Formats: sequence, structure tokens, C-alpha cells
Amino acid sequence: MAAFEQRLGAALAQRREQQLYRQRLTLDSPQGPVVRLDGRDYLNFCSNDYLGLAAHPRLVASFQRAAAEYGVGSGASHLVCGHSRPHRQLEEALAEHTGRARALLFSSGYAANTGTLATLLQPGDRVLQDRLNHASLLDGGLHSGARFRRFGHNDVADLARKLSAGEGPALVVVDGVFSMDGDSAPLPELAALCRLHDAWLMVDDAHGFGVNGDNGAGTVAAAGLGEDEVPVLMATLGKALGTGGAFVAGSETLIEALVQQARNYIYTTAICPALAAATLTALALLRDEAWRRAQLGELIQRFRRGAEQLQLPLMASASAIQPLLVGDAGTALQMSQALRDRGLLISAIRPPTVPAGTSRLRITLSAAHSEEQVDRLLEELARCRPQ
Ligand code: PMP
Repeated sequence: MAAFEQRLGAALAQRREQQLYRQRLTLDSPQGPVVRLDGRDYLNFCSNDYLGLAAHPRLVASFQRAAAEYGVGSGASHLVCGHSRPHRQLEEALAEHTGRARALLFSSGYAANTGTLATLLQPGDRVLQDRLNHASLLDGGLHSGARFRRFGHNDVADLARKLSAGEGPALVVVDGVFSMDGDSAPLPELAALCRLHDAWLMVDDAHGFGVNGDNGAGTVAAAGLGEDEVPVLMATLGKALGTGGAFVAGSETLIEALVQQARNYIYTTAICPALAAATLTALALLRDEAWRRAQLGELIQRFRRGAEQLQLPLMASASAIQPLLVGDAGTALQMSQALRDRGLLISAIRPPTVPAGTSRLRITLSAAHSEEQVDRLLEELARCRPQ
């Protein structure tokens, strides 16, 4: 037993030495542009609550109503007796919102990705993934039994070479909006290439669903693509939708295969019914409060204009994710700490989440921020940049 303790201790010490140690924060407030931590208010530029829905009164009221009706626990997995009316209504609404035959709820995006890849793939298949894909996609691909290949980030020519080089059914997998870079996949080009090679395309739109496209239908819809071009669409509900969980949308066959076979769907407790009810309200708000997407778009522009004037090292992103490239992990950490001292929460993203030498401040904007808050962010970034 001592061997385990020793090994774990050594790994932790090494992390500390390499400036890769991660700390959790304990908030004493809801998500929002300002959060409370250790008795102090901070401007929050690190949450994925892009539309400011996580503490929206209508979501909270839906949650409370459904909790009163259905309780707070689902009690079992979907296939046993954990599937209730709010889950079903939410799945139907998600299918409609994404223009697909059906949608299936998972308890997290991590489970949705790993479960879907495990169900779709078998030995003899090929899975080709952008090298900056989210960890859950990479893990799902690596453990799927299929031949796993990465292609260069957004490098359609590299993907074309790799598709031509191999044989067997091929699944191409990308993030719609990349979580740590904020840029988007070239979906029309990828879809055309997949068609040429008779490959399937899966898009994880965790950071685009709710934000991009008409009524927030997502990055795939915004690119003018449907189920024919992108047969497997996945998105999470814990970001722009403000709640939690995830879904996969696609054909009747795809979804029924996931219900019957995806171990991450079958052997896990369904999300709480009240959370499904709150998410249903969030979907309605995508239509009712379209100003949130417009407001977010304006804040993104304002931030980018200001950062350019200040010559801050912006990465090429048009999304709510606006990373500043720092490079060294220790420097990124120091900047994040200096910003914290001045009342701003911004996380330093370091390896292994991003490649070595590309540590960054991952700044995220929300429709709930004000122009003044974005201006303050710019001011503080200029003050805290390395000299
Ligand atoms: N895919 C992407 C692109 C993500 O950024 C995330 C979460 N950060 C996930 C999947 C996992 O989703 P969840 O947090 O619901 O497990």
C-alpha cells in the first residue's frame, strides 16, 4: 500500500515543481459576472455561462417547480425507472431545436463523447480527430478499439492525406468551437471531404450550441449543415444553456443504438428531472431573449478592439473564448494570480490541457457582463502583462 501513497505523492510534488498544480476555488455565490470567493467579490471571466443563464430567475423557477413535482433525484438510470416527463420533453425539444430526428440526454459531455465513440466504433474502423479536440473525444477515440489518428489543428489537407492513406469505415471528429483556443472548425470543408471519402462526421458543439446560429441552434446549423453532412451532433448543457448534462442528436438508428448499447448511458443515473425542466426553459429563452447573443457578440468585438489597441497577445478567436497567449506556464500562473489580487478571476490554462509552451489566460465573456466590466478587464490585463 505504501507504494501507491509514495507514487502519488511524488507525482504531486512534480506537478508543483513544474507549476502545473491546480487549485479549486470554492464560490459562495451563483455564477454571474461577479462571484463571491473567500468573502470578496470578483469579476468572473472564467465561466462557460456564456449567455448568463445559470442563475436566470426563469430557470431557477422552473427548477423549483419541477423539484416540487418530481423531487430532486431521478432515482435510477434512464432504462430502469429514472426517465421522467421532463427528460422526455427536453429530448424532444432538443431534437426539434437541432433539426434532427431524435436527441438523447447524457449526464455529462464527457460521458456523451466517450459513450458515443465506444458505440459507433469497432476494430477495423478508423477514427480521425483534430489534435486540439476535447480530452473526452480523444479518450473516447483512444479506447474505442478503432485505429486512432490525429490530424493537424483545422488542417483539412492533412486530414485529406490521412483519409486517403487508410482503409475501413472512417469517423472524423472535431470540436465545433475549440475549448481552449476559441476558434471554429472549418465545417463546410470538413463535411465536403467526408462526403468525398464516405466518412461520417461527428461534431462536439459544447461551446457553440446556444450561442451560434439562429436561435442558438449551434455551429453546425450556422454553417448551413444538417444531419446529412453531420450525422453525429453532440453538445453540452452546462455552458451556454446554463444547467448541466449533455445530449447527442441524430437519426433514429443512431439514437436507438446509443440507448441500447452506450454503456455510459445505460449504467449511470439520469440527471435530476428538475435540471431537465430548467434546461427546457433555457431552450425557450434562446428564442425569447435573443438579445443575449447579440450582447455577447458586441462584448466580444469590444474586447478584441481594446486588446488590439493595447497590443495584448490575442489568439485568433471570434467566440466567447478569448485566450491570451502567454507561453510559459509559470508566467501564466503569475498573471492569473496578479489579476486575482486585483479582483478578477481568470484561469491560467497549462499543459497537459494545452501543448507545452502555449500556456494561456483563458478569458471567457458572457452576455451578463457589462461594457464597463469588459473595459476594466482590458485595463487590468494591460497592467498585469509581463514587463
Ligand atoms: N466537450 C467539450 C468541447 C468541452 O469543452 C467539455 C467540457 N469542458 C466537454 C465536452 C465535457 O462536457 P461536460 O463538462 O458536460 O462533461
